[in-house]
Amino acid sequence: MPRITIPGNDADLRQALEDVNLPTILMVLEHLTGDPRWLSPRYQPAPIVAPEGSLFPDDSGGYSEEIAAEIRAGAFEVLTRVRDEQPALPPPPTLEQMIERMSFSVAEPVGAEFAKMLMEETGFVDRDAQWREPLQAALAGSAVADFSVIVIGAGMSGICAAKKLKDAGIPFTMLDKNPAVGGTWYENTYPDCGVDTPNHFYSYSFERNPNWSGYFSKRDELQAYFEHCTDKFGLRDSLRLSTNVERMRYQSDEHRWYVEVTNAAGRRETLSANAVISAVGQLNRPNMPDIEGLETFAGPLFHSARWRHDVDLAGKRVAVIGTGCSAVQLLPKTAAIAAHVSVFQRTPHWVSPNRDYYRPVEKGLIWALNHIPYYGEWHRARTIFGFADRTWPAVVADPAWPTPERSLNEVNEGLRASLEAYIREQLGNRQDLAPVCTPDFPVFGKRLIVDNNWYPTIARDNVELVTTGIARITPQGVATVDGRLHEVDAIVVATGFKSNLFLWPMEVVGRSGTSLAERWGDYPRAYKGVTVPDYPNLFCLYGPNTNIVHGGGIIYQTECQVHYVMNCLAHMIRERIRAFEVREDVNDAYNEQVQAISRTLAWGHPGVQSWYKNSQGNVVNNSPFSFEAYWQLTHELQPENYLRA
Ligand code: NAP
Repeated sequence: MPRITIPGNDADLRQALEDVNLPTILMVLEHLTGDPRWLSPRYQPAPIVAPEGSLFPDDSGGYSEEIAAEIRAGAFEVLTRVRDEQPALPPPPTLEQMIERMSFSVAEPVGAEFAKMLMEETGFVDRDAQWREPLQAALAGSAVADFSVIVIGAGMSGICAAKKLKDAGIPFTMLDKNPAVGGTWYENTYPDCGVDTPNHFYSYSFERNPNWSGYFSKRDELQAYFEHCTDKFGLRDSLRLSTNVERMRYQSDEHRWYVEVTNAAGRRETLSANAVISAVGQLNRPNMPDIEGLETFAGPLFHSARWRHDVDLAGKRVAVIGTGCSAVQLLPKTAAIAAHVSVFQRTPHWVSPNRDYYRPVEKGLIWALNHIPYYGEWHRARTIFGFADRTWPAVVADPAWPTPERSLNEVNEGLRASLEAYIREQLGNRQDLAPVCTPDFPVFGKRLIVDNNWYPTIARDNVELVTTGIARITPQGVATVDGRLHEVDAIVVATGFKSNLFLWPMEVVGRSGTSLAERWGDYPRAYKGVTVPDYPNLFCLYGPNTNIVHGGGIIYQTECQVHYVMNCLAHMIRERIRAFEVREDVNDAYNEQVQAISRTLAWGHPGVQSWYKNSQGNVVNNSPFSFEAYWQLTHELQPENYLRA
């Protein structure tokens, strides 16, 4: 093992120890020294609890000042000794050590399967070994030389797939319609746009960023991260930007995909590959609302994902249509400069407080993440523990629950009570708004919105929350069904995305000549969210039923899918399989299970109308699985579930 080198001086270390999470540093100390006293009852942290009304846990350990000082002093002594003596870095933990340390640190038992997942998410175990070894054997036999892949989309998922293809030595081309990478982070530039899951989880497991400036970073920093990843992973040579995929078809006799693009020069071109990975996202194509007269409005009207920076909203009368995540993020800055904002709410959403939304990452913590050996790994493990499946019990309906129309079980009802109290507290002297701000569906029926000062903003003097339905748009503004005309100078439509139309508007023609849009209609179904019968060698990332509602971490989901795809590709290459197609019966059985589980979860609740559901009420976007279950589901390939030629 390499020797440990810790840079800096005593002052750096002391500062870091002021800012680190104490239950995390205890795991580091035990890891570095092997001394069991760091996990002794004296240092037992308090359980992780979410403060009243918040999903964001307090994981500080709850130590007395005396014990906290003792841990810091002990850590200083250990780390200065390690810094000065530079011993060999101890090996990564065994699974048993992971379970033991994490169970101590989070003050509750951590199961073996969850711990196995954490071993990979921290990089203590190399998850890519599973596909790298068979591939290396195949590479030695040159089976890979004539195998190539096209990745469509250079956002978070495409970059992840491309990185793994590059590592595997599989030739690939990554295409994106935009002139830059980043996908959703490139396109969304509205005020206060940012991530609403913790950044130390919302980052690739293989490219943790110890330098996030905030716990929930804003758009520019996220875009810079994806640009950095593209450079660092060496993907630019395989990247073609401003290249729009129009159509792709599977040529059965050749077992190849032909992908028709409009290239950066504006010319049609056909590319071809053995396999295609679609990484086009679920939330990429703006949904313009079907409101009469939209095109007649005399002023600027734009979607939140197509923010018009050339339009100065200062001093203007503005309409914001929609009250989802995008609207909640963009409203405060808009209301701060506009003369007046009319917010059009069709239905209220649940909004959760988050005390850390604007909290900068402490300097000492950044130092620790960069320089204290294994701190970053244990920090990530605890972050995932705190933000992954801890809310799962709140989303599973109890069939015996007496008030299923308002909540699902005791935990869910408790959350409802605290969020209702939060609404009242936040509205101040505008308690009259409380009834229209309170959803009638259970918490987690729709995505729980992370608060960006929503209620105080709609309570402002220059903001009006309009809950009367919209009748039409006129040249002057928004007319509601009560006959009132809300005159405005500009309209922002924050009405979401065409999320049910997966892979749309690309035309995707499969083995039998059927287009995917025709096969799916508004009921897309894929096996594990990734593969589709009749579309051999096509792999979807962030496909049907893979969205996560109960916790943070869509990158986690993508990494699970990319791992699964890499196992498929390694199997194809090693076995010299030219066509790899999921069996129809396997896909059907899987999707029956998906729907059966979804009906028992918050977002399958009959009282919820959302972008998660199709016209028949089937949930088509969300995963019905916990993080742990989906990791297991995508970890191993069962080749017998596929037709192979
Ligand atoms: P959204 O959640 O789909 O919200 C769209 C809003 O527009 C809803 O309030 C919806 O009302 C309303 N609406 C839609 N069509 C309408 C119509 N014809 N007339 C009136 N109102 C209409 O869209 P979003 O806010 O852009 O968020 C989409 C997803 O993107 C989120 O769920 C989240 O997954 C992601 N996102 C994440 C972040 C983040 O990480 N910070 C930020 C933004 C978005 P109803 O509720 O009644 O349907």
